[in-house]
Amino acid sequence: MNVFEKMEEMEHEQIMFFNDNETGLKGIIAIHNSTLGPALGGTRLWKYASEEDAIKDVLRLSRGMSFKSSISGIHLGGGKAVIIDNPKAKKDEAFWRRYGKFVDNLGGKYITAEDVGTNTQFIEYISLETKHVAGKPDYLGGGGDPSPVTAYGVYLGMKAAQKQRSGNDSLQGKKIAVQGVGHVGQYLIDHLAKEGAKITICDINENNIKQVSAKHRVEVVSPEDIYGVDMDIYAPCALGASVNDTTIPHLKCGIIAGAANNQLAEEKKHGDLVKAKGIIYAPDFLINAGGVINCYIETVGYNRDRAYAATDKIYEQTLAVLQEASTSEKNSQEVALEIAMKRIEDIGKTRRTR
Ligand code: NAD
Repeated sequence: MNVFEKMEEMEHEQIMFFNDNETGLKGIIAIHNSTLGPALGGTRLWKYASEEDAIKDVLRLSRGMSFKSSISGIHLGGGKAVIIDNPKAKKDEAFWRRYGKFVDNLGGKYITAEDVGTNTQFIEYISLETKHVAGKPDYLGGGGDPSPVTAYGVYLGMKAAQKQRSGNDSLQGKKIAVQGVGHVGQYLIDHLAKEGAKITICDINENNIKQVSAKHRVEVVSPEDIYGVDMDIYAPCALGASVNDTTIPHLKCGIIAGAANNQLAEEKKHGDLVKAKGIIYAPDFLINAGGVINCYIETVGYNRDRAYAATDKIYEQTLAVLQEASTSEKNSQEVALEIAMKRIEDIGKTRRTR
């Protein structure tokens, strides 16, 4: 893989590779675009099959963060970090504090947060070495777990999609299949149950299934069967790329709206395919932005009400995107991407005139 070619193609500004022999820390920080502000994005700890996979992941995820922050109207750029889990990785205090120092070396151009494989303990350790961290727990002056805010935004995006479909945004009696009932999935189900939706769930983690079943009346299906269930709305809240060549023919829903990042395996191809099937797709990076909005509010002085008020805008924004997509050749993902790119371009121009 030619890294510079890839950076040129995806328009990345900067990549930092870091290594520490003592602790086994190895990773990459990618800054995609910092036009709108410091590049914020979580740190993912993952066992990558190859270095190339790790580079591809960090490039893809950091690019997604630029567009997510842009379309949400917040003043952040897009960045992401991946740490390559390996047999020498100690994952202890020294390991994470060393990582904090690498983040600090970027002088605030990159702000980190939690992601898959990292947790509050990680945030605490790196906070000792750098102030460029968001998603801190309440006792460190942060906004805490962003998942409830993410779930709230997804819920609003889903309601906007329902409004676009039927003229009425009520989810009462709607059959909704939630794939993945982890942090966001569970908070989303709280909203859906309160509104009287008929919920079907699946997960590969039995404990999470038990937790939801103990709290709400839900139907449980196996992860393989979720795509074919009788549903009005499919809510992917597990991993990315679940909307693909294999699954689309099974989907009988009218709406796809969920929390997972990068739901469309191939943006253009699968965005067009779902549109052609008459399914309304609420763009993932638009409706799952509540978490990054929460982190942004933390960087300017955390206030829970402000975080929720900023997330409220997801409803109108989603509706506007879906309306435009319904009257144009473009699919909803393309419409949302264009809005996000235009803001970055416009602000980039004002910067150049300084
Ligand atoms: P999580 O790890 O807490 O939950 C994911 C759940 O999906 C887990 O319960 C897991 O067991 C389940 N799962 C994994 N593979 C599955 C499969 N094949 N079938 C069914 N279930 C499966 O993660 P989360 O924080 O709830 O995030 C969910 C998704 O939303 C992720 O894609 C994440 O990147 C995205 N997201 C999260 C946030 C946030 O604030 N947490 C913000 C934006 C986007």
